[in-house]
Amino acid sequence: MCDSCDYKSILRESGVRPTRARSAVLSALGEEARPMSVEEIHARVLEPCPIHRVTLYRTLDILVEKRVVRRLSAGARAFRYALAFGKHRHEHAHFYCRRCDSLKCIDPGAIPLDSIPIPKGAGLLEKVELRLDGLCYGCIARERDAGEEG
Ligand SMILES: [Zn+2]
Ligand SMILES: [Zn+2]
Repeated sequence: MCDSCDYKSILRESGVRPTRARSAVLSALGEEARPMSVEEIHARVLEPCPIHRVTLYRTLDILVEKRVVRRLSAGARAFRYALAFGKHRHEHAHFYCRRCDSLKCIDPGAIPLDSIPIPKGAGLLEKVELRLDGLCYGCIARERDAGEEG
């Protein structure tokens, strides 16, 4: 999000003890506007805080459980992570490109998920996740270029 974001207080306010690993994960996520994969987070976190992949998974589990971080599905059994505050505070849809595996945020105003009508008796809503799957324009252009050459 920004250099001045106080991740330690955000963790404390969410009832999570601020450890170096947890702060490092939040600051890694805050540097990217788009949701990140575990591999990307790990690569980013390793320098300030060398942790094992297993520890990272456990850290992410806690942060998701405490709703500091959002876990989003991307493709088959894959997840991406984003901060649950700042840009990602409001529920919004994501576009997933099945070719390049990218997950892009869609402006919350474009598809308002906050006002989605929930049928009575469905249950107590805790989160809304909407993923639009398809091909991004980058991949469509690459495919077209490749077609013209061949
Ligand atoms: Zn793509
Ligand atoms: Zn997003």
